Amino acid sequence: MKHRIVVLGAGYTGAVAAGRLAKRLHREDVAVTLVNPEPDFVERVRLHQLATGQDLTPRPLREMFAGTGVDVKLAKVTAVDVDRRTVTVTSSHRAGQAEPESGEPAYEEPAYEELEYDTLVYALGSGWNDGGVPGVAEHAYELSSRAGALRLRDRLAALDAGRPVVVVGGGLTGVEAATEIAEARPDLDVALVARGVLGDWLSDKGRAHLRKVVDRLGITVHEHTTVAALEADRVTTADGTAVPAEVTVWTTGFAVHPIAQATALELTDGGRIVVDDAMRSVSHPDVYAIGDAALAIGPGDKPLRMSCATGVPMAWQAADALAAQLTGAKLPHVSIRYYQQCVSLGRREGLIQFVTADDRAVNRALTGRLAARYKELICKSAAWGVANPTVGMPSRRRRVVQREAEGRSRARAAA
Ligand SMILES: Cc1cc2nc3c(=O)[nH]c(=O)nc-3n(C[C@H](O)[C@H](O)[C@H](O)COP(=O)(O)OP(=O)(O)OC[C@H]3O[C@@H](n4cnc5c(N)ncnc54)[C@H](O)[C@@H]3O)c2cc1C
Repeated sequence: MKHRIVVLGAGYTGAVAAGRLAKRLHREDVAVTLVNPEPDFVERVRLHQLATGQDLTPRPLREMFAGTGVDVKLAKVTAVDVDRRTVTVTSSHRAGQAEPESGEPAYEEPAYEELEYDTLVYALGSGWNDGGVPGVAEHAYELSSRAGALRLRDRLAALDAGRPVVVVGGGLTGVEAATEIAEARPDLDVALVARGVLGDWLSDKGRAHLRKVVDRLGITVHEHTTVAALEADRVTTADGTAVPAEVTVWTTGFAVHPIAQATALELTDGGRIVVDDAMRSVSHPDVYAIGDAALAIGPGDKPLRMSCATGVPMAWQAADALAAQLTGAKLPHVSIRYYQQCVSLGRREGLIQFVTADDRAVNRALTGRLAARYKELICKSAAWGVANPTVGMPSRRRRVVQREAEGRSRARAAA
C-alpha cells in the first residue's frame, strides 16, 4: 500500500513541497495529493500588480503538475482531524470549466469528501486581517487573495480622476500597493498611513530612497498615525482626524486561516502551527506545516516572518525531511535565513535592502531601475521555482523503506 501524502494549499510553499516530494520519491511507494480551491497557481507577490490592471501569466496547476505524479485536487479544505488523520474537503469545481472572470472558482452544489492521509503537509497560507477596527470588514479592500485584488481592480478602474485612495499599513505590502497605484493612476489622490516613520525598518539609504520615490509619485504620507474607524468615504484616525478615502486598501498584516485552530495541533496565540527545525508539528509528528501557516524559528532565535523568501526554504526543508524519514536517509538541513528585502515601488523603481541573517537592515541597498529589474527577476524565479522544485539538486528518487510500510500496517492491525 502506498504512503499517502496530502498537501493542503498550492501556493508558493505547498506547490514546491508537493513537486519536490514527487521528485524525491517513487510513484509506486507514495501517492501525493495537492488540494487547492483555485485551478491556477496564484502569484501572490504580484497581487498589487493585478489590482492595478496588469494581467498575470495564467499558471494552471494541472498543467504545471502534469506527468509529475502529483494528483491535483480542486477542492476547499473545511476541516482537518489530526487524530483520525483525515481532511474534509468540498470538491465541487466543475472539471474542465474555465475559471470565471471574478476569480472565484466555479462551484456546483458543494459535495463533501473525506481524504485520509499518512502524512499531512499543511500549507494553507494566510489571509487578511481587519484588526478589529470598526468599518474595515464592510468597507476596506484587501490584497491578500486573487479575488480581493480583482475586486480592488474593478473599483480603481471605476474611480474618476482626483478621487482619494488611502492605503493603510506602512509595511512592505502597503508600500508596494501605494506606489503601484500611484504610478498606474497618477490622476488619483493616493495617501499612505503608517503607524511609525515611513520605512523605519530600512537603512538610511533605503529610507531616503523610499521617501524620494513616494514624493515623486505624489503620495501623501500620514506618519505616526493609527486608524480607529472606517466609513465608506473616509478613514478616521485615533486623534479624530478624518482623511477622505473613496477607496481604502487595508494592508496591516496577515492572519492565518481558522482551520488549524479547530484541531489538536499545538499553535501560537496567532493560530500558526508550531514546528521544529524539520518543519514537523511539535505535537503531531505526522503533520508538517510550512509557509505563512507555520511558525518556525530562524537565525537569532527569532520567529520567521510570513514571507515567500523564507516560506520556500521551509517547503524544501519539509519535503526533504519527509523524504528522508520515509526512505531511511539522513535528515537534511536546509539553511533558512534572510539576505535581502526586495521591494517594488511601481514598475520603474525598486529597492533592494540587504539584511542580516535575522532580517535587520545593513547599510547597503540597491535602488532605481536596476532594483526594479532585480525584483522582477526574483518574482519570476519564485514562480519558476514552483514548477522546478529540485533544480540544482540531485533529483534521484529513493525507495520508501519497507520498515515504514510494515510499521504502518502493524499499527493499522493493532488499531
Ligand atoms: C501583495 C503581496 C505582496 C507580497 N510580496 C512579497 C514579497 O515581495 N516577498 C515575500 O517574500 N513575500 C511577499 N508576500 C508574502 C507572500 O506572498 C506569502 O508569504 C506567501 O505567499 C506564503 O506562501 P504560502 O504557500 O504559505 O501561502 P499562499 O501563497 O497564500 O498559498 C496558500 C494556498 O492555500 C490555498 N488555500 C487557502 N485556503 C484554502 C482552503 N480552505 N482549502 C484549500 N486551499 C486553500 C490558497 O488558495 C493558496 O493557493 C506578499 C504578499 C502579498 C499579499
